[in-house]
Amino acid sequence: MISIKDNLELIREKIIAAEKKAGRPENSVKLMAVSKFHPQSDVVTAIECNQFLFGENRVQEAVEKFEPIIQENSSIELHMIGHLQKNKVKSIVKAAQCIQSVDSLELVQEIEKQCAKINKNINILFELHTAEDSKSGFASASEIDEVLKLMTENQFPHVIPKGFMTMAPFVSDENLIRKSFRELRETKEMLLNKYPQFDLSELSMGMSGDFEIAIEEGSTLVRVGTAIFGERNY
Ligand SMILES: *Cc1c(COP(=O)(O)O)cnc(C)c1O
Repeated sequence: MISIKDNLELIREKIIAAEKKAGRPENSVKLMAVSKFHPQSDVVTAIECNQFLFGENRVQEAVEKFEPIIQENSSIELHMIGHLQKNKVKSIVKAAQCIQSVDSLELVQEIEKQCAKINKNINILFELHTAEDSKSGFASASEIDEVLKLMTENQFPHVIPKGFMTMAPFVSDENLIRKSFRELRETKEMLLNKYPQFDLSELSMGMSGDFEIAIEEGSTLVRVGTAIFGERNY
């Protein structure tokens, strides 16, 4: 039997150790629990262990699992982390506080449209494609730059840019993983300098297998699923 409570405690300890090792202040890295493919009861267990930030990668599953929980407990924060189709935007903007997987201008336009309808502001992260294994993400920093430029013209008043997200390659070569995280950090530094009017400080990178490396490379938010909830049955 896996214990979500024990797993959460262990991951929190490892995060603190990694922050220390990297010379970063304690609590500079947020822990997101990725509950995709795991039942609502597991989410409830995690909440009982003071876990309030969750990630899901499929809209229907996320909405069904989280809408009742969020209604009861306003401190729960749900982020969308999986590739998002335009026709699903309407459902997810109601439930989520942040969409981390923004990967095109068209998606930003649709998010603006749906948020305007319900008069809600939503946070987004720009997903950057940094590794071959992943299919999603903006292909380059310059494409993100173009969206930010439109944001300075106030084209998307309900969409609040908060930073960047990436997935490292699923390889054992640590150097390749680091390279991917560094690319995201350098993109953040470049665009943060160019657009000081936005708070682009969030760096969402690191998963069960590589979150300690990600913290060394500057991650501010790690997305951990398997190491908390166990293996997923797809
Ligand atoms: C599933 C998923 C995670 C969590 O992966 P684990 O290896 O189970 O920790 C993190 N980020 C994204 C985008 C995911 O889809």
